[in-house]
Amino acid sequence: MYDLMTDKKQLLCALPKIDECLAGLGDRAGSIPARLVKLAVRHCIDSERQRILTDDKDCVLLSHEQWDERLLAAITLKSQMNLRRVINGTGVVIHTNLGRSILSAPMVDALQQAGAYYTNLEFDLNTGKRGSRYSLVEEIICDLTGAEAALVVNNNAAAVLLVLDTLASGKQVIVSRGQLVEIGGSFRIPDVIGKSGAHLVEVGATNRTHLADYEKEINNETALLLKVHTSNFRVIGFTSEVSAEDLVTLAHANGLPVVEDLGSGSLVDLSSFGLPPEPTVQQIVKAGVDVVTFSGDKLLGGPQAGLIVGKKEVINRIKRNPLNRALRIDKFTLASLEAVLRNYYDLDQALTTVPTLRMLTQPVELIKRRAKRLMRRIHTTGRPVCSFCLRPTMSRVGGGAMPEHGLSSWAVAFKPLHMPVSAMEKGLRKLTIPVIGRIEDDLFLLDMRTVADNEVPDLATSLLTFLEQGVLS
Ligand SMILES: *Cc1c(COP(=O)(O)O)cnc(C)c1O
Repeated sequence: MYDLMTDKKQLLCALPKIDECLAGLGDRAGSIPARLVKLAVRHCIDSERQRILTDDKDCVLLSHEQWDERLLAAITLKSQMNLRRVINGTGVVIHTNLGRSILSAPMVDALQQAGAYYTNLEFDLNTGKRGSRYSLVEEIICDLTGAEAALVVNNNAAAVLLVLDTLASGKQVIVSRGQLVEIGGSFRIPDVIGKSGAHLVEVGATNRTHLADYEKEINNETALLLKVHTSNFRVIGFTSEVSAEDLVTLAHANGLPVVEDLGSGSLVDLSSFGLPPEPTVQQIVKAGVDVVTFSGDKLLGGPQAGLIVGKKEVINRIKRNPLNRALRIDKFTLASLEAVLRNYYDLDQALTTVPTLRMLTQPVELIKRRAKRLMRRIHTTGRPVCSFCLRPTMSRVGGGAMPEHGLSSWAVAFKPLHMPVSAMEKGLRKLTIPVIGRIEDDLFLLDMRTVADNEVPDLATSLLTFLEQGVLS
């Protein structure tokens, strides 16, 4: 123990100082600002100090070459954007950690126009007076969903909070025990109800809730009946849920509104593409639900946003809530949201122009062909460093939608010959364009459903670079 401490002290003393490192680098950092270079150097020294302190095995000092290599890598990393493009080979289409939905070129174009130029964001071009940002998309949303009025906020979590705060603060909200969901990222229905100042009244059992359960709890303190779409899990077996229609009849007979948090909120029925049936926003609106909330970046395939649609009188109250101002969307969201919504005027077209829908509905043969294209591009004549083959796999919808449903797909499965598969997975994450895949049966899998056709060349280059470096080291 004593020896280890002495060793560690010596190692710590031998760590280079920032100025020494900077001098050693000379002009090799090129045009990267000195301040960023210094930050990277400090970061390297700190993490090396941490390694010495926590490593209980024999710890050795880095060689000059190793320091140089580390410093230059850290400097390069610091000079790049932290938010970077990655290649999604996970097969999870709506991957929350990878940014959920991606936008098509026209949607990006709308975003860019809104960024590069002044816009009529809150300026009415007819009257020359102040306008409302919501009016830019409200008519389209109403037309597509059949709702009387609409409003858009930052995300669906904000939408639920705003609706409950407006309609139920200080009063009771009745929810089925089977729908008290946690979505992830700390969004839990009971907590959101609490934050809105409303009181949660749970009814029914985890697996079964009946209309009479709701009916028993309605009293003078009741503000509304809340229905939550169980997006990310399924209760199977002996189950029963009250339909939106029945809830509406009960609520309206008691002068109360029904609110539904639909979560993914699709505008198209994807069941003809082999996906399980999910209620569309139009169906819920038609059932008479007073307020429906859903995400912009899940099955809708647009930017992060929370759409609130429903009856005019209720939506108007929500619009007037001062909290609305704190949760409002910015012009980039509005621009790309309007662009994605316009695709839905032609539903057939939406299936190919909205990337999320395209990935979910593309024929499996197309995915197989793309996988083969990738394989042809990485087939080298040199020494094999990795074996790979075509492999059937299952993709996921993701985003908490259709939880147990797998979509048949094709992957390129890699077996590196000179390193563990985990090292390959890690190495690919560190590339200039990181490649994210998954490990299955000791193979590294790239599911080609979530790789776009035009990403194949970049992906091939990344893989070749990595594999060639892998064999050298
Ligand atoms: C995803 C989801 C949310 C949260 O939506 P965000 O857009 O991520 O804020 C809330 N409720 C349900 C049922 C969901 O599926």
